[in-house]
Amino acid sequence: MTAMIEDIDRDVFVQVQTDLLVVGDSIMTDRHHASNGNYEDNDPQNQIGGIIPAFSLSGWLRHGMEKVVQEREGTACHPGESNANFRKDDVYSRDIEAGYHPKGDCVEDGNEGCVIHDLFGGFGNQPGKIMRRPIKFSPVRSSVDYTRGQAEGHYRRINRNVVSRNQEDNREPLRNAELDAVGNLDGSWHLSYREVKPEFVALLAEAIEFLDAHKTDFMHQLGGARNFGGGIVDCELVNPLYEEHELRRVFDRGKGNTNKMDDKDEKWREEYLSEFKTELVERIEGGP
Ligand SMILES: [Zn+2]
Repeated sequence: MTAMIEDIDRDVFVQVQTDLLVVGDSIMTDRHHASNGNYEDNDPQNQIGGIIPAFSLSGWLRHGMEKVVQEREGTACHPGESNANFRKDDVYSRDIEAGYHPKGDCVEDGNEGCVIHDLFGGFGNQPGKIMRRPIKFSPVRSSVDYTRGQAEGHYRRINRNVVSRNQEDNREPLRNAELDAVGNLDGSWHLSYREVKPEFVALLAEAIEFLDAHKTDFMHQLGGARNFGGGIVDCELVNPLYEEHELRRVFDRGKGNTNKMDDKDEKWREEYLSEFKTELVERIEGGP
Protein backbone atom coordinates (compact mmCIF):
# COMPACT_ATOMS: atom_id res chain seq x y z
CA MET A 1 0.00 0.00 0.00
CA THR A 2 2.82 2.42 0.75
CA ALA A 3 3.81 2.16 -2.91
CA MET A 4 0.84 4.42 -3.67
CA ILE A 5 2.85 7.41 -2.51
CA GLU A 6 5.22 6.85 -5.41
CA ASP A 7 2.41 7.89 -7.78
CA ILE A 8 2.29 11.32 -6.19
CA ASP A 9 4.44 13.97 -7.80
CA ARG A 10 6.40 16.48 -5.74
CA ASP A 11 4.46 19.26 -7.44
CA VAL A 12 0.85 19.76 -6.41
CA PHE A 13 -1.64 22.48 -7.28
CA VAL A 14 -4.48 24.16 -5.45
CA GLN A 15 -7.20 25.96 -7.36
CA VAL A 16 -7.89 29.33 -5.73
CA GLN A 17 -10.67 31.74 -6.59
CA THR A 18 -11.53 34.96 -4.81
CA ASP A 19 -13.38 38.16 -5.69
CA LEU A 20 -11.05 40.37 -3.70
CA LEU A 21 -7.64 39.87 -2.21
CA VAL A 22 -5.75 42.52 -0.28
CA VAL A 23 -2.32 41.42 0.85
CA GLY A 24 -1.17 44.24 3.11
CA ASP A 25 1.07 46.42 1.00
CA SER A 26 3.01 43.52 -0.34
CA ILE A 27 1.53 42.79 -3.75
CA MET A 28 4.31 43.34 -6.26
CA THR A 29 3.26 44.69 -9.60
CA ASP A 30 4.90 45.27 -12.94
CA ARG A 31 3.11 48.60 -13.19
CA HIS A 32 6.29 50.55 -13.87
CA HIS A 33 6.94 48.40 -16.93
CA ALA A 34 3.41 48.42 -18.22
CA SER A 35 2.54 52.05 -17.82
CA ASN A 36 5.62 53.81 -19.07
CA GLY A 37 5.03 56.47 -16.46
CA ASN A 38 1.44 57.12 -17.45
CA TYR A 39 -0.25 54.78 -15.06
CA GLU A 40 -3.69 55.80 -13.89
CA ASP A 41 -5.04 53.93 -10.88
CA ASN A 42 -8.59 53.89 -12.06
CA ASP A 43 -8.12 53.17 -15.72
CA PRO A 44 -9.92 49.91 -16.47
CA GLN A 45 -7.67 49.55 -19.50
CA ASN A 46 -4.62 48.98 -17.37
CA GLN A 47 -3.03 45.64 -18.07
CA ILE A 48 -1.06 45.15 -14.95
CA GLY A 49 0.10 41.86 -13.61
CA GLY A 50 2.09 41.07 -10.54
CA ILE A 51 2.97 38.66 -7.84
CA ILE A 52 1.19 37.65 -4.67
CA PRO A 53 4.01 36.74 -2.30
CA ALA A 54 3.83 33.41 -0.52
CA PHE A 55 3.86 34.81 3.04
CA SER A 56 0.13 35.33 3.39
CA LEU A 57 -0.74 32.22 1.42
CA SER A 58 1.57 30.20 3.63
CA GLY A 59 0.10 31.55 6.85
CA TRP A 60 -3.40 30.85 5.61
CA LEU A 61 -2.52 27.26 4.68
CA ARG A 62 -0.61 26.66 7.89
CA HIS A 63 -3.54 27.81 9.96
CA GLY A 64 -5.80 25.37 8.11
CA MET A 65 -3.35 22.54 8.68
CA GLU A 66 -3.06 23.37 12.38
CA LYS A 67 -6.83 23.13 12.66
CA VAL A 68 -6.88 19.71 11.02
CA VAL A 69 -4.26 18.46 13.49
CA GLN A 70 -6.14 19.96 16.42
CA GLU A 71 -9.49 18.53 15.32
CA ARG A 72 -7.81 15.14 15.44
CA GLU A 73 -6.79 15.84 19.03
CA GLY A 74 -3.17 16.57 18.19
CA THR A 75 -1.17 19.69 18.99
CA ALA A 76 0.61 21.84 16.41
CA CYS A 77 3.90 23.69 16.60
CA HIS A 78 3.22 27.26 17.67
CA PRO A 79 4.11 29.54 14.74
CA GLY A 80 5.88 32.06 17.02
CA GLU A 81 9.28 31.85 18.61
CA SER A 82 9.04 30.77 22.23
CA ASN A 83 11.59 33.22 23.58
CA ALA A 84 11.43 34.50 27.13
CA ASN A 85 9.53 37.70 26.39
CA PHE A 86 6.98 35.99 24.27
CA ARG A 87 6.40 33.29 26.88
CA LYS A 88 5.22 35.97 29.30
CA ASP A 89 2.54 36.95 26.90
CA ASP A 90 -1.00 35.89 27.77
CA VAL A 91 -1.75 35.18 24.15
CA TYR A 92 1.03 32.65 24.00
CA SER A 93 -0.08 30.67 27.04
CA ARG A 94 -3.66 30.79 25.83
CA ASP A 95 -2.53 29.35 22.49
CA ILE A 96 -0.57 26.61 24.18
CA GLU A 97 -3.70 25.58 26.01
CA ALA A 98 -5.72 25.69 22.80
CA GLY A 99 -3.87 23.00 20.88
CA TYR A 100 -0.30 24.16 20.37
CA HIS A 101 3.03 23.10 21.75
CA PRO A 102 5.98 25.51 21.88
CA LYS A 103 7.70 25.74 18.52
CA GLY A 104 10.40 23.12 18.16
CA ASP A 105 9.68 21.30 21.43
CA CYS A 106 8.64 18.32 19.34
CA VAL A 107 12.16 17.81 17.93
CA GLU A 108 13.95 17.84 21.27
CA ASP A 109 15.70 14.64 22.40
CA GLY A 110 16.02 13.47 18.80
CA ASN A 111 12.27 13.12 18.16
CA GLU A 112 11.09 13.41 14.56
CA GLY A 113 8.85 16.38 15.32
CA CYS A 114 5.21 17.04 14.62
CA VAL A 115 3.87 17.02 11.08
CA ILE A 116 3.53 20.83 11.07
CA HIS A 117 7.19 21.20 12.04
CA ASP A 118 8.12 18.74 9.33
CA LEU A 119 6.25 20.72 6.67
CA PHE A 120 6.98 24.29 7.73
CA GLY A 121 10.44 23.95 9.22
CA GLY A 122 11.88 25.17 12.44
CA PHE A 123 14.57 27.47 13.60
CA GLY A 124 17.49 28.78 11.60
CA ASN A 125 18.27 27.08 8.35
CA GLN A 126 15.91 24.20 8.62
CA PRO A 127 13.55 24.37 5.66
CA GLY A 128 10.06 22.95 5.71
CA LYS A 129 9.29 20.03 3.46
CA ILE A 130 6.59 21.88 1.56
CA MET A 131 7.70 24.80 -0.54
CA ARG A 132 5.04 27.50 -0.87
CA ARG A 133 5.48 29.52 -4.02
CA PRO A 134 4.17 32.97 -4.86
CA ILE A 135 1.31 33.26 -7.34
CA LYS A 136 2.01 35.23 -10.48
CA PHE A 137 -1.12 36.88 -11.81
CA SER A 138 -2.03 38.54 -15.05
CA PRO A 139 -5.21 40.16 -16.36
CA VAL A 140 -4.67 38.52 -19.72
CA ARG A 141 -6.11 35.05 -19.37
CA SER A 142 -4.46 33.67 -22.47
CA SER A 143 -1.03 34.39 -21.01
CA VAL A 144 -1.68 32.57 -17.73
CA ASP A 145 0.12 29.25 -17.35
CA TYR A 146 -1.82 27.27 -14.76
CA THR A 147 0.73 24.45 -14.82
CA ARG A 148 3.25 26.90 -13.38
CA GLY A 149 1.09 28.15 -10.53
CA GLN A 150 -0.26 31.25 -12.19
CA ALA A 151 -3.62 32.97 -12.04
CA GLU A 152 -5.83 35.40 -13.85
CA GLY A 153 -6.20 38.45 -11.65
CA HIS A 154 -6.88 42.15 -11.99
CA TYR A 155 -4.73 44.56 -10.09
CA ARG A 156 -6.50 47.50 -8.56
CA ARG A 157 -5.34 50.27 -6.33
CA ILE A 158 -8.12 51.05 -3.92
CA ASN A 159 -8.27 54.53 -2.47
CA ARG A 160 -10.13 54.89 0.77
CA ASN A 161 -10.91 58.35 1.97
CA VAL A 162 -11.27 58.38 5.69
CA VAL A 163 -13.50 61.35 6.43
CA SER A 164 -14.23 63.21 9.63
CA ARG A 165 -17.43 62.20 11.35
CA ASN A 166 -17.74 65.55 13.03
CA GLN A 167 -20.79 67.36 11.63
CA GLU A 168 -19.16 70.80 11.51
CA ASP A 169 -16.20 69.35 9.55
CA ASN A 170 -18.52 68.72 6.63
CA ARG A 171 -16.98 65.29 5.89
CA GLU A 172 -13.55 66.73 5.47
CA PRO A 173 -11.06 64.05 4.44
CA LEU A 174 -8.70 63.22 7.28
CA ARG A 175 -6.42 60.89 5.45
CA ASN A 176 -6.24 58.83 2.34
CA ALA A 177 -5.38 55.16 2.50
CA GLU A 178 -4.23 53.28 -0.55
CA LEU A 179 -4.55 49.54 -0.76
CA ASP A 180 -3.11 47.19 -3.34
CA ALA A 181 -5.73 44.66 -4.30
CA VAL A 182 -6.30 41.89 -6.79
CA GLY A 183 -9.84 41.42 -8.03
CA ASN A 184 -11.36 38.27 -9.53
CA LEU A 185 -8.38 36.10 -8.86
CA ASP A 186 -8.73 32.68 -10.45
CA GLY A 187 -5.87 30.30 -10.84
CA SER A 188 -3.53 27.78 -9.39
CA TRP A 189 -1.17 27.83 -6.44
CA HIS A 190 1.89 25.67 -6.96
CA LEU A 191 3.27 23.81 -3.97
CA SER A 192 6.26 21.49 -4.06
CA TYR A 193 7.13 18.84 -1.55
CA ARG A 194 10.83 18.49 -0.81
CA GLU A 195 9.94 15.03 0.33
CA VAL A 196 6.63 13.29 -0.33
CA LYS A 197 5.03 11.40 2.55
CA PRO A 198 1.46 10.06 2.72
CA GLU A 199 0.61 12.14 5.80
CA PHE A 200 1.83 15.32 4.06
CA VAL A 201 -0.51 14.77 1.15
CA ALA A 202 -3.45 13.88 3.40
CA LEU A 203 -2.86 16.94 5.56
CA LEU A 204 -2.79 19.24 2.55
CA ALA A 205 -6.00 17.70 1.17
CA GLU A 206 -7.80 18.00 4.50
CA ALA A 207 -6.56 21.53 5.17
CA ILE A 208 -7.74 22.77 1.77
CA GLU A 209 -11.11 21.14 2.34
CA PHE A 210 -11.30 22.75 5.79
CA LEU A 211 -10.38 26.19 4.44
CA ASP A 212 -12.98 25.95 1.70
CA ALA A 213 -15.67 24.93 4.20
CA HIS A 214 -14.69 27.80 6.55
CA LYS A 215 -13.96 30.45 3.94
CA THR A 216 -16.34 33.01 5.41
CA ASP A 217 -14.95 32.63 8.94
CA PHE A 218 -12.86 35.66 9.74
CA MET A 219 -10.07 33.43 11.03
CA HIS A 220 -9.77 31.58 7.76
CA GLN A 221 -9.90 34.39 5.26
CA LEU A 222 -6.76 35.33 3.40
CA GLY A 223 -4.81 38.58 3.61
CA GLY A 224 -6.16 41.96 4.68
CA ALA A 225 -9.50 43.78 4.36
CA ARG A 226 -11.28 40.79 5.83
CA ASN A 227 -13.80 42.99 7.58
CA PHE A 228 -14.85 44.16 4.13
CA GLY A 229 -15.24 40.75 2.56
CA GLY A 230 -11.68 40.45 1.26
CA GLY A 231 -9.95 37.10 1.17
CA ILE A 232 -12.94 34.79 0.96
CA VAL A 233 -11.31 32.01 -1.02
CA ASP A 234 -12.86 29.08 -2.82
CA CYS A 235 -10.15 26.48 -2.88
CA GLU A 236 -9.74 22.92 -4.00
CA LEU A 237 -6.77 20.60 -4.24
CA VAL A 238 -6.35 19.57 -7.86
CA ASN A 239 -6.32 15.79 -8.03
CA PRO A 240 -2.62 14.89 -7.77
CA LEU A 241 -3.20 11.96 -10.14
CA TYR A 242 -4.02 14.29 -13.03
CA GLU A 243 -1.58 14.69 -15.84
CA GLU A 244 -0.61 18.09 -17.14
CA HIS A 245 -3.29 18.30 -19.85
CA GLU A 246 -5.91 17.36 -17.25
CA LEU A 247 -4.61 19.99 -14.85
CA ARG A 248 -4.98 22.55 -17.62
CA ARG A 249 -8.54 21.41 -18.23
CA VAL A 250 -9.48 22.15 -14.60
CA PHE A 251 -8.92 25.84 -15.32
CA ASP A 252 -10.67 25.88 -18.65
CA ARG A 253 -14.16 27.20 -18.03
CA GLY A 254 -15.39 25.89 -21.34
CA LYS A 255 -14.47 22.30 -20.61
CA GLY A 256 -15.63 19.80 -18.05
CA ASN A 257 -14.04 16.65 -16.73
CA THR A 258 -13.27 13.83 -19.11
CA ASN A 259 -14.40 10.33 -18.14
CA LYS A 260 -10.83 9.52 -17.39
CA MET A 261 -10.64 12.44 -14.97
CA ASP A 262 -13.81 11.27 -13.24
CA ASP A 263 -12.28 7.83 -12.86
CA LYS A 264 -9.16 9.35 -11.39
CA ASP A 265 -11.26 11.39 -8.96
CA GLU A 266 -12.87 8.24 -7.66
CA LYS A 267 -9.56 6.44 -7.46
CA TRP A 268 -8.08 9.40 -5.60
CA ARG A 269 -10.83 9.56 -3.02
CA GLU A 270 -11.50 5.87 -2.49
CA GLU A 271 -7.99 4.48 -2.66
CA TYR A 272 -5.24 7.05 -2.31
CA LEU A 273 -6.66 9.66 0.00
CA SER A 274 -8.25 7.19 2.39
CA GLU A 275 -4.96 5.31 2.68
CA PHE A 276 -2.99 8.53 3.19
CA LYS A 277 -5.48 9.70 5.83
CA THR A 278 -4.87 6.53 7.81
CA GLU A 279 -1.18 7.40 7.89
CA LEU A 280 -1.96 10.96 8.94
CA VAL A 281 -4.06 9.72 11.85
CA GLU A 282 -1.26 7.40 12.94
CA ARG A 283 1.29 10.17 12.77
CA ILE A 284 -0.86 12.58 14.79
CA GLU A 285 -1.72 9.93 17.37
CA GLY A 286 1.93 8.99 17.76
CA GLY A 287 2.89 12.57 17.81
CA PRO A 288 3.60 15.18 20.38
ZN1 LIG B 1 5.93 20.75 16.62
